[in-house]
Amino acid sequence: MTDFQSLGLSESLLQAITENGYDTPTPIQQQSIPLILNGSDLMGLAQTGTGKTAAFGLPLIDRLLIEGGKPAQRGTRALILAPTRELVNQIAKSLVSFLKNTHLRVTPVVGGVSINGQIRKLSKGTDILVATPGRLLDLVDRDAVDLASASYLVLDEADQMLDLGFIHALRRIASLVSKDRQTLLFSATMPKQINDLARSYLRDPERVEVAPAGKTADKITQSVHFMDQKAKTSFLLNQLQDQPNDMSLVFCRTKHGAERLMRKLAQSGISAGSIHGNKSQGQRERAIRDLREGTINVLVATDVAARGIDIPGVSHVYNFELPEVAEAYVHRIGRTARAGAEGEAVALCAPEEIGLFRQIEKLIGIDIEVASGEVPPMSAASGRQKRSGGNGGGKRPQQHKQSSSGDNDNRARARAQRRKRPQGRRNAA
Ligand code: AMP
Repeated sequence: MTDFQSLGLSESLLQAITENGYDTPTPIQQQSIPLILNGSDLMGLAQTGTGKTAAFGLPLIDRLLIEGGKPAQRGTRALILAPTRELVNQIAKSLVSFLKNTHLRVTPVVGGVSINGQIRKLSKGTDILVATPGRLLDLVDRDAVDLASASYLVLDEADQMLDLGFIHALRRIASLVSKDRQTLLFSATMPKQINDLARSYLRDPERVEVAPAGKTADKITQSVHFMDQKAKTSFLLNQLQDQPNDMSLVFCRTKHGAERLMRKLAQSGISAGSIHGNKSQGQRERAIRDLREGTINVLVATDVAARGIDIPGVSHVYNFELPEVAEAYVHRIGRTARAGAEGEAVALCAPEEIGLFRQIEKLIGIDIEVASGEVPPMSAASGRQKRSGGNGGGKRPQQHKQSSSGDNDNRARARAQRRKRPQGRRNAA
């Protein structure tokens, strides 16, 4: 078995890795770390929970330590971009845990909090800047940060950044970072737009892949229960009451739907919280901490708010409503079975969601086990034209060929996505 010693990392970092409790590198770490240490650009196709933060973070830190030197005023030596506030904070926290015995500084910058403190911190310069694209450009426009000195650029969860409408921001940011840089791009899925992005910004990239695009983690047991939309709340309540010690994430399509469901669960005695675009940064962080620490057992979430967050110990992911686009299903259920643990993904599918359900099965390439209910006919999907707003993930529609009712559904979804995208972007930054 490969160990961290054989990957070429320096001694001080190996010590920090041991102190962090990591024994063996995960597959994405085994593949990526030597390539990044060699100076290659890299395109990593990896799901959440595979250890990709350390896969790019460890060699990045190693190189910065070896290169030595200090950041210029308002400068940064490395720039990491991620789609959401939660993910930025999580990446920064993870990097800090490897930096205990070094002089390197990590600075996270996200929207939703005062910009003045960030401007002050950046005035001294930083070694690693972790940012959401929107807030970073605000800081660039205020002359608070100079990206020209960054010789490393990491794009994490690149597919999600595109989905949130950050493409122009990414192009602008990439043009501000030194041309003579090493660029690393990580994405859970690899749609054509990501390939195009990689072609524009990466030089002869090495490609690493730990699970085929759209494939779900092996250790997740998946099932589906078919039922009417209005039967879902009491079904979920029963499931949660039957397993009071589980740690569950419940996904809804809209922020209002998520809030309503959380209230109903709480009224029935379930200790539940919620994260979605209407919650402040502080509220979101508190809810995630409450779940982590066991103060609550259930977190009701929308896609954007939950994307990329790392909560060890999540045993169940409920798809209370199926996502608008199949790929979001893979991201949702990737919240369980993290770092080698086992997990269950339970989908509740109403007749009008059958088209979405079939698209999910097609994407992941398996038939999900039917645990209860009658499988509705595909014709039931045609009634599903009413779309609500909210931050359901902002994904592009899939181009799957299917029956005429499915095509109608795709067109309706495309319209809904076009309406939704700007809102999703605001929520995330
Ligand atoms: P990530 O995919 O980077 O969000 O990581 C998912 C989880 O796996 C985090 O809780 C990490 O701390 C943990 N992790 C990452 N690499 C390792 C490793 N080599 N050994 C054990 N845990 C790890």
